[in-house]
Amino acid sequence: MQVQQPPTQRPDSMISALMPTYKRADLAFERGEGSWLQTSDGRRFLDFAAGIATCSIGHAHPKMVEAVSTQAAKVMHVSNLFQIPQAEKLARRLVENSFADSAFFCNSGAEANEGMVKMARRAQMMAGHPERTDIICMDGAFHGRTLAMLSATGNPKYLEGFGEPVKGFLHVPFNDIEAVKAAITPNTAAVMLEPIQGESGIKVASPEYLRALRALCDETSVLLALDEVQCGVGRTGRLFAHEWAGIKPDIVSTAKGLGGGFPIGAILTTETIAKSMTPGTHGTTFGGNPLACAAGNAVLDVILAPGFLDQVCTRAALLDELLDSLVADAPDIFAQRRGLGLLIGLRCVPAVGDVQGAAQNEGLLCVTAGDNVLRLVPPLTVSEEECRKAVALLVQAVSTLRKNHNNKTVLEPTA
Ligand SMILES: *Cc1c(COP(=O)(O)O)cnc(C)c1O
Repeated sequence: MQVQQPPTQRPDSMISALMPTYKRADLAFERGEGSWLQTSDGRRFLDFAAGIATCSIGHAHPKMVEAVSTQAAKVMHVSNLFQIPQAEKLARRLVENSFADSAFFCNSGAEANEGMVKMARRAQMMAGHPERTDIICMDGAFHGRTLAMLSATGNPKYLEGFGEPVKGFLHVPFNDIEAVKAAITPNTAAVMLEPIQGESGIKVASPEYLRALRALCDETSVLLALDEVQCGVGRTGRLFAHEWAGIKPDIVSTAKGLGGGFPIGAILTTETIAKSMTPGTHGTTFGGNPLACAAGNAVLDVILAPGFLDQVCTRAALLDELLDSLVADAPDIFAQRRGLGLLIGLRCVPAVGDVQGAAQNEGLLCVTAGDNVLRLVPPLTVSEEECRKAVALLVQAVSTLRKNHNNKTVLEPTA
C-alpha cells in the first residue's frame, strides 16, 4: 500500500511564527512613560509615532493604568446581551461633546468604517431610497484593510490578489467639489472622506471644501460620512477635525486615539440615522466592552479636561514654528510642512525611509506616510520641552543625512 508522505520542507520555506505582513524595525520596547519608550537594553526613544497616532495620552498614563487595571480586576467582558454602564458613559460624553446623538462601539478603524457604510445605506433605505447604495470616496483615501474598506480605499496595491473589488465605491479627486458634484447620481448614498488624509501623506481638506460638501450633500440628500479614525479624538486640537470647518457631518467613524492604545472604535451619528439601526441590524462581540470603555473614558478624562485641547493647539503652534524654520534651513531634506494640530507631515526630498531611519538613529520615532512624507504624531500630552527636543533630534538627523550624502558623493567614482 502506498503511504502518502508529508511533503519535505524546503529550507527556503521557513516562515516566522508571526506572519510576515509587516516590515518591522529591529526594536522591541519593554516599557514607556509619557512621550518616551525604552528598549530592554535601556535605550530611550522620544515617541513621535505614538503607535501610529494611537497612544493619545502617552505611555503608562497614571489615569489609564488605574482605569484599566481597576476594571480588569472587576469585569472585562460581559457581551452586549447586558447593560454596560462604562459604554453608556463613554457614549454620553462623546454625544455631549459632538454633533452626534448616538454612538456604536466596535474594535478598530476598519470596523468602524464598515459600520459607517452600513449605516449610510440603511438610513437611505429607511428614508425610502434602497437604490442609494453608492459611496463616493476620495483618491488617496485610506479606510482600512477589510475587503469592503479595501475597495473604499481604492489603492490598487492593497487590492492586488484579493479578488473582485467590492461594488459600490467610486473615487474622485480630493479637495475638488466639482468632481463630487459630477459624481453624484440617484444611486449615491454618501460621500465618505478623511478630513485629513493620513496614510497617503497628511493632506488636509480645506474648510471651504468641507463646507461646500455639506451644502452639496444637503441639496442632494446624500449623507456626509467622515473617517476621523486618525484625525479625531483631539489630534487636531478639537475633539473632531471637522469642527475646524464649522460643519456638522451625518456620520463619523473614529478609533486610533480613542482607547489610548487599547483597541476600540466608534461610529457617531444623528438620531435619524441611528434610528435606522434597529436591534439585529449590526453587532460585534467585543465592541464596547467594560475594559475597552474604561480605557476610552480614561482618554476622555484627560482630553476633555478644561484647557487640554487649547494646550494641544499651543504645542502644535510651537512645532509648526520650529518645523517651518527646520524646513527653511534644510531644503535639501525637507520640501514642505503640512497638517493640522498634532497630525504633522514633512514632505522629504530624499527617500522618507532614509529620513525616518536617521531620526530613529538619533532617538526619535516617527512614521512614514505616502507622498514621501514623514509623519509626526506625538502623544497629545507631549510637553513643550519634548517638542523642542524632537526638532533638535531632527536637526541632528539632517546633519547625519548630509554627511552620508557627501561621503557617498566623494566615494562614488566620477564618470
Ligand atoms: C488607521 C486608519 C484606518 C484603519 O484602522 P484600523 O484600526 O487599522 O482598522 C482607517 N481609516 C483611517 C483614516 C486610518 O488612519
